[in-house]
Amino acid sequence: MVEPIRWLAWRRGRSRRTGTAGDAFEQALGRLDQAAELADVDDEVLERLRHPKLVVEVSVPLRMDDGSLRILRGYRVRHDDTRGPAKGGIRFHPDVDLAEIKALAFWMTCKCALVGIPFGGAKGGVAVDAKALSFSELERLSRGFIRLVADVIGPDTDVGAPDLYTNETVMGWMMDEYSTIRRAKAPAVVTGKPTALGGSRGRDDATGRGAYYCIKELEKRRGWDPSSVRVAVQGFGNAGQHVARFLHADGYRVVAISDSRGGVYDPHGFDVPGLVDAKNRSFRLQALYHGGSLEDLVAAQRITNAELLELDVDLLVPAAVSNQLTVANADRVQATTIVEVANGPTSAEADVVLADRGVTVVPDILANAGGVTVSYFEWVQNRTGLYWSAEEVHDRLRPMMTDTLDQVLDLAETSGVDLRTAAYALALGRVGAAFGAQASSPVFREPTP
Ligand code: NAD
Repeated sequence: MVEPIRWLAWRRGRSRRTGTAGDAFEQALGRLDQAAELADVDDEVLERLRHPKLVVEVSVPLRMDDGSLRILRGYRVRHDDTRGPAKGGIRFHPDVDLAEIKALAFWMTCKCALVGIPFGGAKGGVAVDAKALSFSELERLSRGFIRLVADVIGPDTDVGAPDLYTNETVMGWMMDEYSTIRRAKAPAVVTGKPTALGGSRGRDDATGRGAYYCIKELEKRRGWDPSSVRVAVQGFGNAGQHVARFLHADGYRVVAISDSRGGVYDPHGFDVPGLVDAKNRSFRLQALYHGGSLEDLVAAQRITNAELLELDVDLLVPAAVSNQLTVANADRVQATTIVEVANGPTSAEADVVLADRGVTVVPDILANAGGVTVSYFEWVQNRTGLYWSAEEVHDRLRPMMTDTLDQVLDLAETSGVDLRTAAYALALGRVGAAFGAQASSPVFREPTP
């Protein structure tokens, strides 16, 4: 258990950034500065967090099925590994760039510290439209990327995981490629693998389940009646599908769901398991991704992704891509609670608008931490060779999510800050304690009389 944060007034001489300018990484750091205004951490902690420890940029040659060659840009960023091996997903998405990967790696450092798992933060990705690749092209890309970053990843140094448009099949290929290079089985080099290859039971739905546990804790605190809570979920992939499924099974009214092509809306609520089945049945053999869009699968009012965010609902769950809630739409959001399952769905400026309007935002580094928590369980199981039941995984996950949420809610309440600031402050305290345990700076300071 970590020392409670001591709150201090902003100390003279520390520069403050607004968090609204610069690239994705600069903006992410802006959020950190806001928390640091209140948290008692040394300036050196902030300075270290502003500089990722290792940045690798690679060119991945990909032989296409038609014989042509494409060169794709890829990245692996190890943001920090003071608290343990760096940990973070690998995404295949056209928008991937270095600034985004650095921001995502930084969020992983904060997320792992916040939930108290012994990992630092990392992230990787390749700029590619994975949905346009065949199954074989995707396998060659996954293996080719690992060949280029094999020297900087490993079970004791930097551990990968699924993210946008990568999944357990991709993780299986990546683990196999790394093991082939090392000439030794190394299941703990990535998590989120198929269970047949050393994956953990309960990893597939862990992100959605973790978010659901947070929502249940909020329900307890706020006295919600699930049947009167209307929910909109943006994104129907690994994260979004499961959170929608858990909420529906619990009596919540899931009235809107979307995927990349658009969404559907029914004020009476959807039969979510039916939608999951329909979407998964549309799985295409030539690729790993679901072929049919939600729009084609159900007869309901069609809405755009932008409309979904502004619907008259109580709970909004962005579970797709970043920067969905911005100054352009934050004042029109009607939900009173937002649970950020996606990474970075809300811009810093939108945060201010939402806070002014009294909207509760459960931040991404907390709401989607179920994924990395069960990834940690998978890594532990791989390294001990002992495998747990799904019940054991769920029983370990639930208190980690709810205890963390309670700490964040309590800190936010007692300090009069929003949940994001409280979450970052707690994370900063933990990262700061690790830096402090290694730091040489006290040697150079005047002893206090
Ligand atoms: P996924 O690839 O399984 O699914 C992504 C979903 O988002 C798909 O339904 C896709 O159609 C939809 N989508 C893509 N572009 C969109 C757009 N512009 N507008 C609306 N919908 C769009 O990915 P995932 O694993 O579910 O990840 C979703 C988000 O959750 C990402 O931000 C990811 O970083 C975050 N996350 C995932 C995990 C995990 O364990 N999978 C863990 C933590 C955070």
